[in-house]
Formats: sequence, structure tokens, C-alpha cells
Amino acid sequence: MRHVAIIGCGPAGRYLADQLLRLLPDASIDILERLPVPFALIRYGVAPDHQGTKAIARVLDRVLSRERVSFFGNVEACRDIQLEELMSFYDAVVLATGATRDRKLGIPGEDIPGVVGSSAFTGWYNSHPESRPPAVQGVRSAVVIGNGNVAIDVVRVLAKGPAEVAGSDLSPEVTAWLAAQPIDSIHIVGRRGAADAKFTEHELAELGTLERARPIVVDPQALAGDNAIVQTLRRFAAAESRTTPVTINFHFNLTPAACVAGKQLRAVQFHSRNGVITELQAQLAVTCIGYEAIACGEASPANGVFPNDNGKVKERLYVVGWARRGPSGTIPTNRSEAQQVAQKMAQEIGDSNRPGGSGLRRLLEQRGVRWVDYAAWRRIDAAELVRAGEGRCREKFSSVAAMLEAAHAAGNETPGRGDSI
Ligand code: NAP
Repeated sequence: MRHVAIIGCGPAGRYLADQLLRLLPDASIDILERLPVPFALIRYGVAPDHQGTKAIARVLDRVLSRERVSFFGNVEACRDIQLEELMSFYDAVVLATGATRDRKLGIPGEDIPGVVGSSAFTGWYNSHPESRPPAVQGVRSAVVIGNGNVAIDVVRVLAKGPAEVAGSDLSPEVTAWLAAQPIDSIHIVGRRGAADAKFTEHELAELGTLERARPIVVDPQALAGDNAIVQTLRRFAAAESRTTPVTINFHFNLTPAACVAGKQLRAVQFHSRNGVITELQAQLAVTCIGYEAIACGEASPANGVFPNDNGKVKERLYVVGWARRGPSGTIPTNRSEAQQVAQKMAQEIGDSNRPGGSGLRRLLEQRGVRWVDYAAWRRIDAAELVRAGEGRCREKFSSVAAMLEAAHAAGNETPGRGDSI
């Protein structure tokens, strides 16, 4: 029997597990996740008002229930177990750890209160246990930097009113924080022209359908090109004017230069192409400029990704997803990538006498690590569905302790022993 450990239970890790099950009928696959709950990007990255996209979690969930797959939630590689220890237990180890750190702009004032990276911001509005609300109040104007789909998600969540997020899993605390901000202007700023924006047409067009907010192209004469994005922006510019409490203002060809503080963020300054400085007043700025992978033990990223040869980092160590290729593509991109990497692994990894999951379990028990197995995750899942109030599809636990309590409360397992918490 061949034993594979996948570190990270987001879409990339999950699709790879699926492919390995097909290609290696004798393999057992253990998936480690540092939080007690699976799905990573789906749960903590995808916007709460896009429940259609989040529904893919149901598909991802199925693989976790397969006989040859074991889920080890609440187990952090390089904290609870070292990479070299995993390499000694398993015939192959896969880094599916994503790209979790916000890229920095590298401009003055980037660290002042009110300037937030999109990983932190999307984590917060998705109730990630390590997230905090933005350290500002009284937000009238927000600047969103970047012209990708994450920027659109952030704009949309800021722009929507409570009625428009009904049925989502936005937490009561996040809903209350958003409702308390007197937001009337959102600026979405790209450093290149509209034709170079990385938005997808569908996501951009959705901003023209919001109840409380309308899109405005600040300089429609400057729109150059004729692709689907430019056409959508032209439609925004030509649309009949309506009065809304919030405006979403599109700016292009502005490069971030500085964040300017009073007691907190006061404005963001940009260079235009002709060198003129444009200053946008803002109490909140969210940078949506991409993410980078972080190190896992002796495996270190370079330029935000783990250097690899078609998914192979070194003998018996592989990488998939954003940790391999950077933060690009859609969720199904991971499926085609998983096929290729799984094929490579199936050809390369051999059988051995390594212990696989039994070695991991023994070590975690010795260290008193409380892991969450699939059954325990399903208890957390059920508890989150039950506690969702009216108008919400789920209310996530926002602390690891509460997740562990829910996992433990409904079962009779002894923490730190057996295959459950
Ligand atoms: P992205 O699509 O790569 O967009 C990043 C944006 O940041 C680009 O406009 C980029 O400009 C800009 N940028 C980078 N460095 C900058 C700097 N120093 N100053 C100013 N601007 C800078 O990344 P993303 O929006 O984070 O999305 C990541 C992936 O997730 C994408 O594949 C996206 O499509 C996907 N996603 C999909 C959905 C959906 O389908 N609903 C939702 C969210 C995310 P340049 O182009 O000039 O580099």
C-alpha cells in the first residue's frame, strides 16, 4: 500500500486526492488541515454572498468520506508535525497550502490603521478565526486597489445592504460592522487601463445590478480597447443615471504612491501616467493585489510559489494549487492541474514499508494534539447549520475553541486519542 499525505484541504488538495484515488487503487490518502474545518479558500476566500460558488464544498466534501481518505483537521504541518517527519511516514507528501499571505504594495503608509490586505479582509468577512474587523470606524469612503475578481468581491460586500446579503453566511458581527459604516463612495483603482483589467465579465457586470450602489466610470473618454470588460464599463457609463446611497467609482492608470494618515487612514495617493498625483479620500483601503505562499519547514517559496518541475519540488515532495502556480485561475483550474500532478506521482512514487497514517496518529497522540476527523468535522458542520439564525444559511464558529467544542460535544471521543477529537 502506498501512503500519501496532502497538506491543506482546499480545492487543490481535494482535487488531487480525488485523482490519486482513481490512479492509485492501493493508496491511502491523509489530508492535514491546520484549522479544524476543511475547504480553506471555499470557506474563507469565496465571498459569502456567492453561495453558488461555495456550494462546491459539497462536492469537495464527498472525497473526505471515502474509505481510503482520512481527514486530520486541527493539525498544522511545521507546528504539530515537521515536514521531515511527514516525509518519513509517507511515500509522498504534497504541499497544497495555497497562497495565504497578502502581497505588499511597498509604499509609505501601508501599515497604518485602515489599510488592510484582501486576505485579511476576505478572511474577516468570512469569519476566519484569526481575523479581526478593520481597525477603523466611520468609513465614508473606501479605496479598493487592484483590478481582479477579489477586488470586485470586496467592492460588492462593502456596497451591499443587509437585504442583499440575506441567505448568505455573513456573520451577525460582520453584518453589523458593515451596516454601521456610513459608506457612500467606493473607489476601485487599477494601475493599468481598463482593457488590461483581470476582472471576469460576469463578476464585473454584477456590480451593475446592485440595489444600493451604482457603478460610475470616472473618465469614460479614456476607456480604450473593445474587449468584454471595456464594453461592460461603457455600458455602465451609458446607463441611465439613478440615485443610490453608494457609488462605485472606477479609476484606471493610477499607480499607488502612498497612504496618508491623520489619526487613521485619511487618503490614498496615486501617480497618474503623466506624473500628476491624484488623492482619494478614504478611511479604509483594501489592497487586492494577489497573494504569496509561505514556507513549510525547509520548503521555501521563491517569488511567492514553491519552485517545482510540473508539481515536483524534490524526490517524494510535490506541490499543487496556488502554492505551485501562484494565485490564478478558477476553482476548476485545480482539477486539470491535479490530473497532471497525480499522473506524475502515480508514475514516480513507489511502495515502501512506511507506516502512513498509523505513524502520524501515534505521533499526534504522543504530542497530545487534538485532531478532528471527518465525523467530527461533520458535527461542526451540523452545529453551524443549526445555529444559523433566520436569513442565514450557516453561522460559522469564529474561534478554533468553539469549533473543537462543537466537534467534541456531540461525540464521546477522548481528545487526543483514537481517530477523533
Ligand atoms: P488578480 O486577478 O491577479 O488581480 C490582481 C490585481 O492586482 C491586478 O489588477 C494587478 O494589476 C493588481 N496589482 C498587482 N500588484 C499591484 C501593485 N503593486 N499596485 C497596484 N496594483 C497591483 O488577483 P486576485 O483578484 O487576487 O484573484 C486571484 C485569483 O482568484 C484570480 O484568478 C481570480 O480570477 C480568482 N477569483 C475568482 C473569483 C470568481 O470567479 N468569482 C473571485 C475571486 C477571485 P496588473 O494586472 O497590472 O498586475
